[in-house]
Amino acid sequence: MPKRRRKLAPLKKPRRSKPAEVLVGAPGGRMLCLVPFCRRTRKDDGRFDEWICGKHWTLTPRSWRRGLFLFRRRGVHHELVARMWDRLKRVAIERAAGL
Ligand SMILES: [Zn+2]
Repeated sequence: MPKRRRKLAPLKKPRRSKPAEVLVGAPGGRMLCLVPFCRRTRKDDGRFDEWICGKHWTLTPRSWRRGLFLFRRRGVHHELVARMWDRLKRVAIERAAGL
């Protein structure tokens, strides 16, 4: 474990197909946080097609986030990374809704 806790950067995901809901309401080519009703945006640099803002990202379990980064760094199957992302997405949305 690192001594100093670094602030985690918002989650990034390799670009695949573009889900329509991500594009809705994002002005000026910016990306919206995928949590419904969250108005946070980031610059769309074309690298990702989904994004969770820092605020909602911190609502997700740290171990899952770690898992995602570890899988990705080790180049573990794409499918596993995608599944982990889906879980993180779901929990971020659920917690944002106060469930
Ligand atoms: Zn958000």
